[in-house]
Amino acid sequence: MFSKILIANRGEIALRVIRAAREMGLSTIAVHSTADSDAMHVRMADEAICIGPPPATSSYLNVSAIISACEITGAEAIHPGYGFLSENASFAQIVEDHKIKFIGPSAAHIRIMGDKITARETMKNLGVPCVPGSDGGVADLRFARAVAEQTGFPLIVKATAGGGGRGMKLARSLEELETAFRTARAEAKATFGNDKVYLEKYLGAPRHIEVQVFGDGKGNAVHLGERDCSIQRRHQKVFEEAPGPTIDAETRARIGEICTRAVADIGYEGAGTIEFLYENGAFYFIEMNTRLQVEHPVTEAVFGVDLVREQIRVAAGKPMSFAQEDLQVNGHAIEVRVNAEKLPEFSPSPGRVTQYHAPGGLGVRMDSALYDGYSIPPYYDSLIAKLIVHGRDRPEALARLNRALGEVIVDGVDTTIPLFRELMLAEAVQTGDYTIHWLEQWLESHPG
Ligand code: ADP
Repeated sequence: MFSKILIANRGEIALRVIRAAREMGLSTIAVHSTADSDAMHVRMADEAICIGPPPATSSYLNVSAIISACEITGAEAIHPGYGFLSENASFAQIVEDHKIKFIGPSAAHIRIMGDKITARETMKNLGVPCVPGSDGGVADLRFARAVAEQTGFPLIVKATAGGGGRGMKLARSLEELETAFRTARAEAKATFGNDKVYLEKYLGAPRHIEVQVFGDGKGNAVHLGERDCSIQRRHQKVFEEAPGPTIDAETRARIGEICTRAVADIGYEGAGTIEFLYENGAFYFIEMNTRLQVEHPVTEAVFGVDLVREQIRVAAGKPMSFAQEDLQVNGHAIEVRVNAEKLPEFSPSPGRVTQYHAPGGLGVRMDSALYDGYSIPPYYDSLIAKLIVHGRDRPEALARLNRALGEVIVDGVDTTIPLFRELMLAEAVQTGDYTIHWLEQWLESHPG
């Protein structure tokens, strides 16, 4: 086992990793920008190193500064968290080249899954069902039209390098295809430096269901069921739950086995998430995330495992601490993402938190790096807390969430908590009867 690990991240996820490491008896090193000198992860880690000025490109994405921080402190491994460098294959490669262990999959696996066209092809060959669309990239409009004729409309033009809900354009007809194709390519080039796009059938009313997988890098793998993350705004998840309200044990086992076999076949190491759209009882692969997800705590709650501990264990060459038969769904868990944002525009609301109170009690977990008097810097993601609740069943989890939302205090900045309080009243949330479009439609009818 390692004795020291460096966490190349900030905010709640840095704390999450520090906590797991500490329970394992490992010492932790935080890295931070000058804007984060007072941040909680800096205070909580055993050591902290400043790696640059506020913009992420000069600090949390500054590969040479992070490698130097490892060398100075003697860190043997790096946990990348999510976002920032977590899915950057060249970073993973550089880390390994410096004889430091990257806590996550191999650079090769990150590279395959980071390119959506290659990911689709790989998954298809591994027997995972994909959304109908182009085989490979679509380089010109003539080919796009030919694919459209096969697939039919509506369809979606997607950037192979896309992520974070960006790099997608909808085309409802042949006339719209030209504009969608050109703008998707131009935006992909500008945003990701790669204009390669592909086409996918646009599914009208699917749910977003993702399967949590875990591999030991030696050909053994398990799945930890699914999460339903259909409640989204601008293709970004807002509210996540496990198990999926529409997924029964048989369906879970079926899709879980397909995913487990796929990751076992490629010798995948660590945590991964295989994302699907789910419509009329059929699963369609959309992408694989080769890292810990923001919403991993709902899976931890229902399976009673510590996924970060497990990531660190397998990175250190230890076997997984559970087998498939040990993994049983227990109850129901829900997570809401609390952002420092002003409603109804969802515009960033950085600033000083004058008062902070986290909810507590049975089945309540608040993952946050906030504290009284903390100033949320304007440079990074607006996620400030994740509220996770666990109950014996879905109604109990919902009641607990409603209760916990009433306890949270975050004064001084605007947050999305009022949105969740409203959402608790919505029938679709209560019944679990929603698709990926539900929240956008609900927001339109609730402009306040
Ligand atoms: P990203 O990598 O940007 O998160 P994804 O491919 O995972 O992109 O898609 C994000 C979201 O966009 C999905 O959860 C879903 O809401 C929507 N989406 C993606 N592909 C399709 C599709 N083929 N049809 C309908 N909606 C889609």
